[in-house]
Amino acid sequence: MPRELACRKCKALTTGKVCPVCNSTDLTTKWSGLIIVLDPEKSQIAKILNLKASGRYAVEVS
Ligand SMILES: [Zn+2]
Repeated sequence: MPRELACRKCKALTTGKVCPVCNSTDLTTKWSGLIIVLDPEKSQIAKILNLKASGRYAVEVS
């Protein structure tokens, strides 16, 4: 499984070179934790972390 990159701006994970959520190219391999948001409207975690779109996110990005 290829190591995914985490966006430094919104913490979304991607295997590409551009963040699929905010289109940032400021990505890093240095992240930990994994959150999968299926429905940001109903997810408490998404609210706490202020995630607006469904997808996979890192908990911590350095
Ligand atoms: Zn992003």
